[in-house]
Amino acid sequence: MILDGKSVSAKIIEELKASLDSREIKPCLAVILVGDDPASRVYVRNKKKKAEYIGVRTDIFEYPSDVEESVILNKIEELNNNPEITAILVQMPLPEHISRDKIVCSISPKKDVDCFTPENTGRLSIGMEPYFYPATPQGILMLLDVYNIPVEGKHAVVIGRSNIVGKPMAQMLLNRNATVTVCHSKTENLEEIIKTADIVVSAVGKKIVRCKMVKNKSVIIDVGIYRDSNGNLTGDIDFEEVEPVAGFITPVPGGVGPMTIASLMYNIVKS
Ligand code: NAP
Repeated sequence: MILDGKSVSAKIIEELKASLDSREIKPCLAVILVGDDPASRVYVRNKKKKAEYIGVRTDIFEYPSDVEESVILNKIEELNNNPEITAILVQMPLPEHISRDKIVCSISPKKDVDCFTPENTGRLSIGMEPYFYPATPQGILMLLDVYNIPVEGKHAVVIGRSNIVGKPMAQMLLNRNATVTVCHSKTENLEEIIKTADIVVSAVGKKIVRCKMVKNKSVIIDVGIYRDSNGNLTGDIDFEEVEPVAGFITPVPGGVGPMTIASLMYNIVKS
C-alpha cells in the first residue's frame, strides 16, 4: 500500500485551518532568512504561503549574506520578547561567519517550532515532552498513525543520523517502544541490517535501498529528496523495485515532504 502523504497532509492542513478559523487569537510566525540561496527562498516562500493559508500571520526578516551575527542575535532576542510572536524559524543554512549553534541556542524553546534548541532536543532524548517535536519525524509518525501501522516492539532501522531527521527519528521511534538501529556512512553490512527491519526510514540523499535488501511486507519510509542526473525529483529508495515487496511505502514526491509541511504547521498552530 502506498502511504499517501499528499492527501493526509492536505486533510491535516484543512483541519488546522478550521481550528484557527474559530479562534480569535491566531499564532504569528517570524522567519529569519539570511542571504540569497534560491532553495532557501523557495522553502521560506512555501512555508509562508501555507502558514497564511491556514490563518497564521507571517513576518519574514531578510538580511544580506554579509550581515553581522550580532544583528541576527539581537533580532531573535527581540522576537523572543515580543508576546505577539508565537513561533520563530531560522532558515538554514546560514553563511559560514554566523555560528549556527549560537543562533539555535538563542531561540526561545517555547517558540522553537523546528525543535532545534538544546532544550527541546534534550527533552526529546530524556523522554520529556519537548515544546515542539521536529517536523519531519513527527510528520512520519503522523502518517504511520493514520494508516494504523504499529511501531511498538518492531525493529526500526533509521538510515542517516542528522540532527534534523535521523537522530530525532530514532529517538521518537524508541520513545514509541520500537527496537531501533541507526545506520550511517560508516555502517558495515548495511544490507543485512536493512533485511531485518520491520520499518525502514531512509534519510540519506542518495539511492540506498533496493528490493533485495528489504524484508517482505516491511514499512518503507523515504525521507530523501534530491534531483537525479536527469533532473527528476527522486528519493533514497528504488520505488519501482521495492514497492512490490514492501507492505507500505512512501512515494517521492508526495510522501514525507508534504507530511513535513503539515507537521510544521501543526507546531505553529500549537505555538
Ligand atoms: P544529512 O545531514 O546530509 O545526513 C545524511 C546522512 O546520511 C548522514 O548521517 C550520513 O552518514 C548518511 N549517509 C551518507 N551516505 C550513506 C551511506 N552510503 N549509507 C548509509 N548512510 C549514509 O541529510 P539530512 O538533512 O538528514 O537529509 C537527508 C535527506 O533527506 C536529503 O535528501 C534531504 O533533502 C532530505 N530531507 C527531506 C525532508 C522532507 O521533508 N522530505 C526533510 C529533511 C530532509 P554520516 O553521518 O556518517 O555522514
